[in-house]
Amino acid sequence: MADAPSRRIVVDLSGQAALVTGASRGIGKAIALALGKAGAEVACIARNEQKLNETAAEITSAGGKASVHVCDVADSAGVQATVDAVVAAHGRLDVVVNNAGITKDTLLPVMTDEDWDQVIAANLRSVFLFTRAAAKVMMRQRSGRIINMSSVSGLVGNPGQSNYSASKAGIIGFTQTVARELAKRKVTVNAICPGFIATDMAEALGPAIIDEVKKRIPMQRLGDAEEIADAVLFLASDSASYITGQVVTVDGGMTA
Ligand code: NAP
Repeated sequence: MADAPSRRIVVDLSGQAALVTGASRGIGKAIALALGKAGAEVACIARNEQKLNETAAEITSAGGKASVHVCDVADSAGVQATVDAVVAAHGRLDVVVNNAGITKDTLLPVMTDEDWDQVIAANLRSVFLFTRAAAKVMMRQRSGRIINMSSVSGLVGNPGQSNYSASKAGIIGFTQTVARELAKRKVTVNAICPGFIATDMAEALGPAIIDEVKKRIPMQRLGDAEEIADAVLFLASDSASYITGQVVTVDGGMTA
């Protein structure tokens, strides 16, 4: 993205272990790479093993440490087994980024039960499953950062996205409540609401819709995945130690 800044936040997460869902591409991959660059060991989660291996290889070739865990984030037993495997591989769990997500956009009258259930499962149930499993580890550690990927579609309505908006608004309510539950154990829980970010998910809209979208963004450009990764780095850092239950919107002014 030509207009995006090249200076990035510098954070030291050495000695920490991070888990990122949806690390096979897009925003999750950018987050995994940024956490690895910041010194964290990174557990990369998604379904596409080959793409996960590519993410892990980029982290290790930059001098970091990464592991790959193939998992459907909506599968309860699979998520618990994955968190157990991550803790076994890295010895601890300090940062969880619940980023995996899908869209199945269509107007309400023609939305099928499957369109609804699949989006709620991949986007919202997954956040519950990973947070529940990770919280047990972090409560014992008495430290941890959980960062949930919501969306501007969870803040304001967007025609064709009733399933997606419901899942992303649900993430915000979940984040606020779990933040209150875990605060005493020094585990923070926050959400990020990206606007339109240049990834496969946004590109699926097609060039004509993307041009229309840009007109609705005060900064008149899509965001970069790295600009979301920067917000994650900040929330994972010591600088964010007193921030919990909050929603950080990164949208070029769209919802201003
Ligand atoms: P993307 O490029 O489509 O990537 C989605 C990621 O989620 C992939 O790594 C995919 O991996 C993973 N995933 C999806 N379903 C999964 C499942 N059942 N189990 C495991 N992994 C699964 O999307 P993105 O644009 O990077 O979006 C990342 C997050 O940001 C999503 O939560 C999205 O809703 C949110 N967001 C994006 C935008 C945007 O404009 N791009 C805006 C607001 C919010 P596999 O296919 O390998 O499983």
